[in-house]
Amino acid sequence: MSADLIALGAAAVASAVRDKRTTAAAVLEASLLRIAETHAEGSSLNAVLHPAVAGPETEPLAMGALAGVPVAIKDNFATRSLPTGCASKILEGWVSPFEATAVRKLREAGAVVVGKTNMDEFAMGSSTENSAYGPSRNPLDPTRAPGGSSGGSAVAVASGVAPIALGSETGGSVRQPASFCGIVGVKPTYGRVSRFGLVAFASSLDCVAPFGRTVDDAAFATEVISGHDVNDATSSDRPVPAMRVGPGSLEGMVVGVPREYFPATLHPEVKERCGKAIASLKAQGATITDVSLPHTDLAIPVYYIIAPAEASANLARFDGVRYGLREKGAGVREMYEATRARGFGPEVTRRILLGTYGLSAGFYDAYYRKAQQVRALIAQDFAKVFASGVHVLFTPTTPTPAFKLGAISDPYEMYMSDIFTVTANLAGIPGMSLPIGRVDGMPVGGQLLANHFDEPTMFRAAYALEEALGAGAHR
Ligand code: GLN
Repeated sequence: MSADLIALGAAAVASAVRDKRTTAAAVLEASLLRIAETHAEGSSLNAVLHPAVAGPETEPLAMGALAGVPVAIKDNFATRSLPTGCASKILEGWVSPFEATAVRKLREAGAVVVGKTNMDEFAMGSSTENSAYGPSRNPLDPTRAPGGSSGGSAVAVASGVAPIALGSETGGSVRQPASFCGIVGVKPTYGRVSRFGLVAFASSLDCVAPFGRTVDDAAFATEVISGHDVNDATSSDRPVPAMRVGPGSLEGMVVGVPREYFPATLHPEVKERCGKAIASLKAQGATITDVSLPHTDLAIPVYYIIAPAEASANLARFDGVRYGLREKGAGVREMYEATRARGFGPEVTRRILLGTYGLSAGFYDAYYRKAQQVRALIAQDFAKVFASGVHVLFTPTTPTPAFKLGAISDPYEMYMSDIFTVTANLAGIPGMSLPIGRVDGMPVGGQLLANHFDEPTMFRAAYALEEALGAGAHR
């Protein structure tokens, strides 16, 4: 019964727990059982690295809005009772002495952490294949990638472990896996949610980003975790508006369709599903307008200068002294080198090298400064479109549905799977992905982007689209 309840969503679980139709312990048991089922030998989805153990730590702190709701948390959030390892050997076994603000807020609303989820090491990747613990698998076709880097959290939601999960976004790591797994993923405005306790990757891009099985679950999670935090100087003190706006007419809403997001190379059936979604936004009363974001094609090169540069600085702290792994060495320098050489996987090493190069004397102006200038142009593209009266933008989330595990070995080709998502991180605007249909059984995600701090308008479009597509989104 509790397993069916999890499928009904966060609000249904919380009200059943509050009304004593079930208990938080029974819901937790169902969730842990589901984790065990999805980890069955020989067919493991490998979504959860560290499952919770029922006990005092898994008792809800309050009978609040999320009373007894199981939540899965990406392995790069500091949690107190479970290890925080970023799916990296360098942090193996490390347990944080403090808790991330977003996790604390979920728990203070009554949610129960059921496990820490698999991810690309330090959130660098688009398939979870960069995890030191092996990839997660897409529940809809286990030979395919669930997307990444927050793939484990996406799989946890898509396979019924929890109605809500936390992921993190630097360039699309929640929207892309949401699209691949047929669920909803939200990247809030930069600054909307405190990043305290989220292990830093690229600080000017990183966002805490929730998944939900439905738009309502995703809006619910976003609302609960938002708000100012004295522990994160980049968190905004703007009031948090209601995000669970529910379905309604889109009369008066102007939806822009940026032509750069529909290149000739776009998968034809992804394009066709987008066309249907746009038609249904129109049928709900929205005005559809063609727009241009001319600097879009520069987003991937800019991102792959800025993100590795910031990562190379942030990851300097993993030195064998402060956290986790320590290798032996003749002196301190040898110890650092041995620890970092053994602790970091190949993609993380590549990013540190790229980033260090881009920031080094003589190259800083040519690369990092130039990238920041182009980043400003990308942000300006969005600012102009929103200033012209457009309320939200609609695009595909990814150029193709989920690819096969092992199919992409060229890092550049992998980087291109974020081509439609990195722009929102560079501009700091909110974005989300929701299911809009299927191609050969695999989900296709549609992306909605809105102006800074305008999550409610984005959700308004999402609720309407979800309602209009209904079962159609799942065919
Ligand atoms: N896939 C992108 C990268 O590898 C984005 C990652 C993310 O959003 N954390 O950097």
